[in-house]
Amino acid sequence: HSLRPPVSLPPASQPISVAEYARSLLQATITSPDSTVTLDTPFLIDAATGQQLTHSRFLNQVHSLSVSLQSQFPSISRNDVAFVLAPTSFHIPVLYFSLFSLGITVSPANPLSTTSELTHLFQLTKPAVVFTTSSILPKLPPSFRFITILLDSPQFLSMITIKISKNYSLGVVNQDDTAAILYSSGTTGRVKGVQVTHRNLIAITAGMFYNRYVGIDQESGRTVSVLPVPLFHVMGVFMLIIGAAAGETVVLLNRFDFEDLLKAVEKYRATYMTVSPPLVVALTKSELVDRYDVRSLRLVGCGGAPLGKEVAERFVARFPHVDIIQGYGMTESSGAATRMLKPEEAKCFGSVGRLVENTEAKIVDPVTKQALPPGQRGELWLRGPIIVKGYVGDPQATAETLDTEGWLKTGDLCYFDSDGFLFIVDRLKELIKHKAYQVPPAELEHLLLSHPDVADVAVIPYPDEEAGQIPMAYIVKKPGSSVTETQIMDFVAQQVAPYKKIRRVVFINAIPKSPSGKILRRELVSHSLSASSSK
Ligand code: AMP
Repeated sequence: HSLRPPVSLPPASQPISVAEYARSLLQATITSPDSTVTLDTPFLIDAATGQQLTHSRFLNQVHSLSVSLQSQFPSISRNDVAFVLAPTSFHIPVLYFSLFSLGITVSPANPLSTTSELTHLFQLTKPAVVFTTSSILPKLPPSFRFITILLDSPQFLSMITIKISKNYSLGVVNQDDTAAILYSSGTTGRVKGVQVTHRNLIAITAGMFYNRYVGIDQESGRTVSVLPVPLFHVMGVFMLIIGAAAGETVVLLNRFDFEDLLKAVEKYRATYMTVSPPLVVALTKSELVDRYDVRSLRLVGCGGAPLGKEVAERFVARFPHVDIIQGYGMTESSGAATRMLKPEEAKCFGSVGRLVENTEAKIVDPVTKQALPPGQRGELWLRGPIIVKGYVGDPQATAETLDTEGWLKTGDLCYFDSDGFLFIVDRLKELIKHKAYQVPPAELEHLLLSHPDVADVAVIPYPDEEAGQIPMAYIVKKPGSSVTETQIMDFVAQQVAPYKKIRRVVFINAIPKSPSGKILRRELVSHSLSASSSK
């Protein structure tokens, strides 16, 4: 069990959306006696344009958009799916919150996705409406029927700015309704749609809200956070919700560039930053850092992929005034299932912190499924209100990942120490993480098998200091084929989002497989490592 005192949640049967819940927390934030936050505090800042949106204008826009959608598109109803495919901008948080308020399921995806990747996602979620921009529109798969609303159109602008009376009713949203479908390949296979409920998001927000360890500027009492995390990833979705609930100022970067990030920290006197490990590596190494004033930073929160102990130590040596904490979680746990809290915990480098509030965990022997004591390694299983409902339209994958007692099998090899700190040792599942982005090997293998010269294939992770891991392909050529490594890499690059590109190819005579035909990935990983060390 979490060692932290449980936080209270609204009764599960109470109809309330995560948007409404966040609004109630913001009210509590503003009215707390020592608060320096008001409704006129900027909530969102667009780093590219410098435009700001206060909490009150944000809430007005959410209300206007909700009412406009309800009145102009009566065919879109509760629990329909709204696909969101657009670069980061002010409109995205407004859109998420109004869809949450209406009980319409938000399904955001990477705007770099290709048409064939989108076809797979649309097959999973069957969206009733797609919110996108005019430049992305031509990529939408043609064989589906849906309403299209362009975020860069005058129509959308009028929907978010139209004046609406305050007491317009939006209908009922149950906590068990699916608030968002986010994409993850889970422990095996292709990308699946993870059903995150309002209850899940309420639970994860409550834990963070009532037990906060954030970077606060001591003088102003405010948190200014820079968010270089994509808003379609669970971490981005969550940071928007907690930012809205806690009255934070969130600086959005619509195109990731390291120097833009440093500029934003300097310009807006940012106190907090949510990052993935490659950014911490860049912060410890880059000479650009010396050109900007980053002394306002108090805290960096890192998650999404492993952060090396030495990297964290190098970070602290370079930024002695900044605490660095780690969190660990998955899309299937609605975000961080463990995180660090107080500065003393932050000194425990190597660990990803302790279990979040209201959550249980066990470490299970991967073979016998017996629960193991502290200090012993096994698969991490998680249970509690942050664990998602399942995968949309895929009862088999759901049953394989969530057992009948509600345990989520994470596919991560971990151990707890006797003080309840979690350490991630390795990944048992197939997943490759390139710069904290998910790359499912099964998807690339499926694609490579469609190449006329490929007889068999296996895709595995290969270590890379900057990106964490890169996708590497072992290929068995068809007899007589003279296909080259570059041709294989180009074939994939033309059909996938850039972070999924194959960056290393090795030809092999046969892919090692178990008697049941499963690829023996561990053998290939060892092979790739020993081949590179013997070079
Ligand atoms: P995602 O669903 O994209 O967030 O990916 C979840 C997976 O990322 C986890 O199951 C882990 O394998 C990995 N992961 C996330 N956070 C960490 C962390 N702090 N340290 C090591 N691995 C992590």
